[in-house]
Amino acid sequence: MTGKPILWIVIPCYNESEVLPITAPMFLAQLTRMRDAGKISDKSRVLFVNDGSRDNTWEIIEKLAVSDPHYIGICLSRNRGHQNALTAGMMEARGHVDCIISIDADGQDDIRAMDAMIDEYRNGSEVVYGVRSSRTTDTWFKRTTAQMYYRLLEHFGGDIVYNHADYRLVSSAVLDSFANFHEVNLFLRGLFPLIGYKSSTVSYAREERLAGQSHYPLMKMISLAVDGITSLSVRPIRFITNLGVFCSLLGVAGIIWVLVRKVTGHLSVLGWSSTVCLILFLGGIQLISLGVIGEYIGKIYMECKHRPRFIISERTWVCQEREYKG
Ligand code: UDP
Ligand code: MG
Repeated sequence: MTGKPILWIVIPCYNESEVLPITAPMFLAQLTRMRDAGKISDKSRVLFVNDGSRDNTWEIIEKLAVSDPHYIGICLSRNRGHQNALTAGMMEARGHVDCIISIDADGQDDIRAMDAMIDEYRNGSEVVYGVRSSRTTDTWFKRTTAQMYYRLLEHFGGDIVYNHADYRLVSSAVLDSFANFHEVNLFLRGLFPLIGYKSSTVSYAREERLAGQSHYPLMKMISLAVDGITSLSVRPIRFITNLGVFCSLLGVAGIIWVLVRKVTGHLSVLGWSSTVCLILFLGGIQLISLGVIGEYIGKIYMECKHRPRFIISERTWVCQEREYKG
């Protein structure tokens, strides 16, 4: 790496009017600190992506952009979710940067880890994953379910970095490769290991949200979890096949047992409750299996429409580059 890299910090924001006035100056201070330390170029920026917020987040971003040229913002035409907002920010940065660091708006991820990320980048890493060294500030429930989920994903063949969310540095080369991934069902933390390149990790302590509310209640967490597994692997379908084979073998064993009882003259009309239990059990398995397969068919349906993943309706800065079809 020759010269100082241009870095954009990409921050998706959805209804963050409470926390943004606190964290925005922190991001800028970190940018300035790294610039003064000679680690990054003065052309570096803090990019906010307003993900169709219902509060006055966009007005705050516009004011920030007027107050300091290092702040810039883009506004999506409606709420598209964290992963799409992040993609919009990364594609906006592409062509203008040497690397980006994506981070949440709420100050939960330690911004000081960016120094180490830039050091890793300058040492040749194209992707640097921020890894949570402790999860003590998360609730017991979030911690345990998250840990179980990582295990499950690994089991289903997803290649992900343990305890890494969406705090990561990505080089321009990786951004260019990422631009060729057009999938609508995005699960970024599973996608970057798939893209490859030389990578490393930087660990940091995860803090409490500085203000405002989490946007990931249980149902949204479950839906992200299901998206993660189904967008990375088709092993759940294979699991159903194995389950089917197992049930069939059980059935064959049952038939043999009934025949033996008949031949030995032990067969009676008893067994109503066991029959009903079996029917209910197998019915349940069949419905779940249909649901899993349906999940994939739904994904195929959404993918084949090729709809844009986001639409940028406003910018606080003038983007002279080509338009990217989200
Ligand atoms: N976010 C977003 N769009 C959404 C939901 C969330 O851009 O539809 C952003 C949010 O503003 C924050 C980040 O995604 O910067 C992570 O959200 P949050 O902190 O609520 O999640 P948690 O840390 O609780 O998992
Ligand atoms: Mg958060």
